[in-house]
This record gives sequence, C-alpha cells and structure tokens, in this order.
Amino acid sequence: MSRVVLFPYPAQGHINPMFQLANILHHTIGFAISVVYTQHNAPDISRYPHFQFHLISDPVTDDNSLIPFRGNAINVLNARCARPFKLCLARILSEENNATVRCIITDAMWYSTQAVADELNVSRIVLRTASVHSSLVYAALPLFHQTGYLTSMEARAEDAVPEFQPIKVKDIPTFGAKDQNSIVEFFSNVFTETKRSSALIFNTFEELESPDLAKLRRQFDMPVFAIGPFNKRFSAAETSLRKQDRSSIDWLDTHAPQSVLYVSFGSIAAMDKTTFLEVAWGLANSGQPFLWVVRPGSINGAASAGSEVLPAEWAEKVSGRSCVVEWAPQQEVLAHSSVGGFWTHSGWNSTVESICEGVPMMCAPYFADQMINARWVSEVWRIAINLERVFARRDVEEGIRRLMTTAEGVEMRRRVAALKETAAACLGPGGSSYEALVGLSKFIMELG
Ligand code: UDP
Repeated sequence: MSRVVLFPYPAQGHINPMFQLANILHHTIGFAISVVYTQHNAPDISRYPHFQFHLISDPVTDDNSLIPFRGNAINVLNARCARPFKLCLARILSEENNATVRCIITDAMWYSTQAVADELNVSRIVLRTASVHSSLVYAALPLFHQTGYLTSMEARAEDAVPEFQPIKVKDIPTFGAKDQNSIVEFFSNVFTETKRSSALIFNTFEELESPDLAKLRRQFDMPVFAIGPFNKRFSAAETSLRKQDRSSIDWLDTHAPQSVLYVSFGSIAAMDKTTFLEVAWGLANSGQPFLWVVRPGSINGAASAGSEVLPAEWAEKVSGRSCVVEWAPQQEVLAHSSVGGFWTHSGWNSTVESICEGVPMMCAPYFADQMINARWVSEVWRIAINLERVFARRDVEEGIRRLMTTAEGVEMRRRVAALKETAAACLGPGGSSYEALVGLSKFIMELG
C-alpha cells in the first residue's frame, strides 16, 4: 500500500485542513497515512485508528516564550523541529511495511522540512493552508521590504497596491515593526523552500481564484493542485482542539430562517477590552439575534472567556435573542437554516466554510492574511461588508443592518449562493477539484 507522511503545523487553522487532506487521501484515494505531530496542540489520535501517529519532541512544550508563534518564534520553531522530524522520518522510512512511502506532505510554514526531505531523498509536497491571493502577497513581502515599501506604510496606509488590486498598503501583513525582519526572513524561507518542493496543494477551487492560480503557476513554475473546498469532503469538527458547544445548535433551532448573525473571530485573534465592548454593544444595538463565540483568551491578556466583563444592562438588552458560547460546531452552525450572516475575522478556513454554506459575511480582520481575505470577499467576490480593523459600535450596528436587512445584503446572499453551487459542483465527477484530485493522486503515485 502506498503511504504518505503528513506533518501539520500546530495551530487550529492549519491542523484542520491538514487532517481534512489526510482523510481525503485515505478515504477517497486509498493511501495509508502517517502523521508526525508535536505535543503542543496535539490532535486527538484516538479519533483516527486507521492512521499511524508519531510524536516528536518539540521545543514548544518546554518553552512557552515561543507561543504564540509570532516573529522570530516561527523561525526558531522550524530550526528546533528539523532534527526531531528528520529522526522520526528516517525511522518511518526504514520500517519494512513503510517501503512504499511516496512522499511527505508538510505545511508551507514548516519550511525546514524541505532540507530534511532532500537529505533523506524523499519528495516533499507542500500544503498551503491560506488562499492563493494572499499567498501571492506574502511571496512579495521580501520585495516590498527591499524597496522600502514597508517602512513608509503608515503615511501611505490608504494607497492602493497596484500589483495586487484591490488591496491597500495597510492590508499588507507586517506583524509590527519589531518583528518585521524576522517575518520577512520567515516568508522568504517559506516560499524559497516551497519552490524547491515537488508540488503545492491549496484548499481552494479553480473557479474561485482562477486569475490568481494562473499568476501563481506562472510565478512558481511547479504543479499546483486546487482540490478544495476540503470541508465539503470532511468536516473540520473532528480536529477541533476545543470542545464544541452543541447547545448552540439547539438554540438555532428555535429561530426563524436566516434571522441569526453568527459571530466568531477564530482560534487566535484577541482584542482589547474596549473593542470587545464595542462589539458587544454593536450586537446589542443592532436588534438582531446573534450567536457569539467568546473563546477563553478573546480579550488580550485575559485567560478567562471574557463574557464576565459584559455588564448586566447588556445582558438585559440582548436577553432572548443571544447565545454566547466558548466554541461552536462552526461548520454545522453555518449550514443551519437560521443563520443569515457571519461576522468573521476572515481566516481562510472560516471564509471557505462560509462560502460553502452560502452565508454572506461581515469582516473584522485582525492580522496576517485576514486583511487580504477581507478585501477579496468584500471587493472581488462582493459577498461581504468590510468593517476593517478599527470599528466602533455604530459601525457594527450599521454593518449588521446592511448585511441582514437590506437589498444590498440580499444581493450578497445571491452571489454567495451562486459560489456555494459552484463549490459543490467542482467536487463532483468532471468538476475542477475532482479532476485536480485525480491528478494529485497520479502525481503522488509517480513519486518515489
Ligand atoms: N472553529 C470552530 N469553532 C468555533 C470557531 C472556529 O470549530 O467556534 C473552526 C472553524 O470551523 C475553522 C477554524 O476553527 O475551521 C478556524 O480557522 P480560520 O482559518 O478561520 O482561523 P484561525 O483560527 O486560523 O485564525
């Protein structure tokens, strides 16, 4: 049996698509799967009795200063994980029943695994868990840096970036001046090593990002497989690192079709207390029913959930039309008939999941690729309202009104419903992602 070895990057938004890919390769194609993982954000391996798992000692568990993985921490993480990964992979390759390891598939963030693959003479395929359009912007970061573009960002914040329309200078992910050099170095490594790999996989579909896929193929000159949306083949629920609160589904059951706004800012984004209260009061003043995910750590520096800072008069105002949970079964929530809109931080998984369920969005991006995704959903696909990064309760209230109650919102819903149909069609026989998966499977079989 042909085997593929996968190494997910240990963050929720990276673990979900890597395990979805593992399921696709195993259940749809028939590959045997080995997963190398770190103790930090370890998956629940009991859920996958049909996969082999290999734990490597990682530096994160003993060194909390590396969390969250920002700035130089991700370079350090790459450097420190390379050797344990190499030893583990060498062991897997030497095991008799693993004679047919065709390739490794590692997250683009694990750039140090390319050198390991070279040393052990095994092919590496890269999974990039972000969108194609944001990857193109990231790939240009070293160039932006060289030309001094990043140092003059504040003064030019509202300027367009002509090569990457419709993004503005302020959407370029810089991660703050302190970390700029490390981040530029990091992404330079990511894309240099990706270009040295055998192929690239994206959780997207041709019809969604066709011009950007064409641009990327020209620029990277390597096989690129757009085989998404992954979540329509396998749910992300299985790899949730937090317990999903199913009471939110019972609560949704009691509401009218398309009446509820779902609010979640993903697994990492955190805001200051003032912004958190602006969100809360914007929701309250909108008059709309809402389901709000307030995760522990949602407020900067606070370990607790954050809902305890909500005042009693707020609770009174939203009583009967609000549900606040720490973590939701997001995919099921988005598929629920009562949900009419999604206020999101524009993480790529959340964006794809929303498109797949035909739910229009309101975006409040925080960092990394989120500003670019928000620009795309609001201005290219025109299925979202973009609040941008700085907002007040009035903007929130107005945005919700536009999304949930106006003709503009109806138009967005119509456009995203069309994309939902396209997403479903591309997975069926003859569809773009179906064919790309057939191509990927042949490609892997010819490796090794
Ligand atoms: N998610 C979830 N429950 C929640 C919020 C999020 O299961 O209450 C999942 C969501 O379905 C998605 C992932 O967490 O698959 C978040 O990934 P995304 O890329 O959107 O954002 P990140 O967490 O990486 O910022």
